[in-house]
Amino acid sequence: MEEIIRRGTEGELSEALNAITSDERFKKPLLDLERHWLTEYSMSREKLLCALTEKLHAEFVSDQAKIRSELLAQFKDELESTKADLQKKYEESLKVEVAKTLEKNKREISAAKKKQWCWNCESEAIYHCCWNTAYCSTQCQQQHWSSHRRFCRRRKQGGGAPGNNPANLTNGDDSNGGE
Ligand SMILES: [Zn+2]
Ligand SMILES: [Zn+2]
Repeated sequence: MEEIIRRGTEGELSEALNAITSDERFKKPLLDLERHWLTEYSMSREKLLCALTEKLHAEFVSDQAKIRSELLAQFKDELESTKADLQKKYEESLKVEVAKTLEKNKREISAAKKKQWCWNCESEAIYHCCWNTAYCSTQCQQQHWSSHRRFCRRRKQGGGAPGNNPANLTNGDDSNGGE
């Protein structure tokens, strides 16, 4: 009994629908509605795709930025440690260099202090006249003699130097020579 009623209702409903869709008066509004829905659907689909694309792009950009900043930080760290290493090495080598230079200067000064210098021309002296006075050559001694003769201690000691001539210089090879 119920079965028959439902069948009957279904049959009537589809018949009514057929009647409506085939009715010329409803055809255009129905088509318009369909078109409207299709447009809505494709627009919202477009929107969703756009949003998704934007989201993915934003994620990609932020990932990139993160990676870049991490790399940058790592690079900076490496740079800092390399710089520190270099600085340390440089300071150490500088220290060594300074110590070497100081030592060298000390040796040179010590050697220079032990040497005697020509009173006349400031070359290294090999002839000694008296107390503080030495010469590189007899020429220099003779040139200096006019001013030195007043102060020469050798003459006062009675070293035998005549007034107008410089004393014989004390040098193994030259002690008997002179003018
Ligand atoms: Zn000289
Ligand atoms: Zn002298």
